[in-house]
Amino acid sequence: MIPQSHPLVTKQAWQIELANTIKDPIDLLAKLGLSGELDAISPDLIMGFPLRVPQSYFEKMRYGDKNDPLLRQVFPLIDESIEQQGFVHDPVGDHNAITSPGILQKYNGRALLLTTGACAIHCRYCFRRHFSYSDSNPLASQWQTTLDALKSDLSINEVIFSGGDPLTLSDAKLAALVEQLDAIPHLKRLRIHTRLPIVIPSRVDHALLKWISSSRLHVVMVIHSNHANEIGDDVAIALAKLETAGCQLLNQAVLLKGVNDSAETLVKLSERLSDVKVMPYYLHLLDRVAGASHFDVSEHDAIELTAQIRAILPGYLVPRLVREQQGEVSKTVIA
Ligand SMILES: *Cc1c(COP(=O)(O)O)cnc(C)c1O
Ligand code: SF4
Repeated sequence: MIPQSHPLVTKQAWQIELANTIKDPIDLLAKLGLSGELDAISPDLIMGFPLRVPQSYFEKMRYGDKNDPLLRQVFPLIDESIEQQGFVHDPVGDHNAITSPGILQKYNGRALLLTTGACAIHCRYCFRRHFSYSDSNPLASQWQTTLDALKSDLSINEVIFSGGDPLTLSDAKLAALVEQLDAIPHLKRLRIHTRLPIVIPSRVDHALLKWISSSRLHVVMVIHSNHANEIGDDVAIALAKLETAGCQLLNQAVLLKGVNDSAETLVKLSERLSDVKVMPYYLHLLDRVAGASHFDVSEHDAIELTAQIRAILPGYLVPRLVREQQGEVSKTVIA
């Protein structure tokens, strides 16, 4: 007899990796040969937004380099405890933009769904680090209300899966969601904002590709990569599979001091994205969230950097430099 695996209890490879992320800053430094080289914030401060690093992301960090651009994105440096004027808990006004349980609507035609609060990696610059997802997570209890809201608003033609990271949800859940969205006639596009193909490329498996390719909606995936070193061969293979399944691939990055704030680094990122058929979309100025001021690059320097990369790259590989400003009808394009 062929042994049968039970779909509800068998974990996929990516789910095992998701469950086994590196969680201890001391452990992470030791693995990189950097014990004692960086000071972390105290354990009680880190609790609300702990260290979280998947194995395949860790493997792309350079051993013995405390300035590694991937390490810098995830390590809870002591600098996070610096209180800086203008750096607040909800810098982009997300709490005010909730129009229905789990729906954020700021812009015409697009409804953003907070599908989950969970992420595979914790990025220290994240503006959502203080967001109380448990209060605004539709899938937990109020999905029907969310769906009814989408059905009744004929002005919405694009649904955006956001979070947290939507691809931390199981494919069974996602496929069921997409099936219900497929049945809403006025929807045209499904956009997925995710860092999973970058940080756990094994997430792009058969089950994921199946619901993506079978949806009637045009699927746009916005991956979040901030540095070319994040895009190894494993990531390239995952992205190629998504492209073959019919996904349009875009990248959004955040401009981060000490990570990607040089023209050379930004050019390399765009070139690498081009290699893997991903179009650079946005380069975001940092959202001014409390605890992230050490990543801030001034608007002046950001404009200068954009001019430098525009002088080197073809126009279509230059991302739009944007900032999110509360109350505006779109992201604000700076350069
Ligand atoms: C950023 C954002 C979008 C998408 O904006 P685009 O400019 O279309 O990428 C949609 N909804 C919300 C709430 C957003 O914050
Ligand atoms: S929402 Fe995105 S940027 Fe924020 S921690 Fe999760 S993966 Fe990182």
